[in-house]
Amino acid sequence: MHAPITPAIADFIHRLPKTETHLHIEGALPYELLQKLDPEKFSQQPECWSKDFKWKCFEDFEAHLIDHALQWFTKPDRYYEAAQVIFAGHLAQNIRYVETSFHAGMIEFLGIPGREILSAIRSAAPKGLEVRVFMGMARNCYSEVLQPVLDECLTWDGLAGIDLHGVEYLPLEDWTPKLWDKARAHGLETKAHAGEFDGANKVREAIEVLGTKRIQHGIRAIEDDAVIELAMEADATFDVCPISNVKLDVIDRLEDHPIRKLFDQGIRCTLSTDDPFSFGNTVEDEYAALSAGLNFTNEELKQIAKNGFEVALVDEATRAKWTAEVDAI
Ligand SMILES: [Zn+2]
Repeated sequence: MHAPITPAIADFIHRLPKTETHLHIEGALPYELLQKLDPEKFSQQPECWSKDFKWKCFEDFEAHLIDHALQWFTKPDRYYEAAQVIFAGHLAQNIRYVETSFHAGMIEFLGIPGREILSAIRSAAPKGLEVRVFMGMARNCYSEVLQPVLDECLTWDGLAGIDLHGVEYLPLEDWTPKLWDKARAHGLETKAHAGEFDGANKVREAIEVLGTKRIQHGIRAIEDDAVIELAMEADATFDVCPISNVKLDVIDRLEDHPIRKLFDQGIRCTLSTDDPFSFGNTVEDEYAALSAGLNFTNEELKQIAKNGFEVALVDEATRAKWTAEVDAI
């Protein structure tokens, strides 16, 4: 991968007030918690954390993640405990604002009420970190068990929004645009994973059919100028995770990552880790990758940080305060 950054740039990245707006809570499971459960079984650092590791395919990655997540996330208390460690990691990186999603499938797998997962994650938010919690769901999740959950989740106290997760090439089903419309009518934010494993057409679908402006990844929009134009017109934001894209082999080399072109063309991009359990990355690593691998200047990194604050679900005074703090660096 890319060359290391200088200590001065590392220090700059560390001091920069930052956001993380694309983070799966199950995919952020702190390894130390598994080690606590079974020190022998988890004595080695995971192979997928090594710099040049590549996942063979999305299904392998997903199976590995779910297999480990199910060993830890067995009850709401476990979400609380994991979230506490995860959020402490954010504070240690000077991150002020986090959007994280839990997967609706876990409600079905484990029989845990979604409301309790939501409340456990929210109550783990420490002072100094604003946390917004989303529920993510697969394109084909409208099952007998989840149907009533999806029908009532929009009224749950403290749910910030919904996100479309999982295998991207599945077709969009009828219930999805209706739920996305209803969510916005309830004042919730809506997101969708698109333009990662499938092409620019899925970014178009997310904007035109789902009506969302918060695209998770979105990077393959680069394959179609008309979709870039559409995203600009819609004032869309791409919550990008470059190290995830390289390790899942969506992009061969970091140096070829489209975030450089997307940013230059004026698409609002933010920076996140996606699933640090499976990639061994931190938000500071993502900034370092942009600096060393894609020649982002410190001023450009400041803009990336400000982009996160620009879309944060906070009042204008808080947004202005954070933006001024970035400008002051
Ligand atoms: Zn994701």
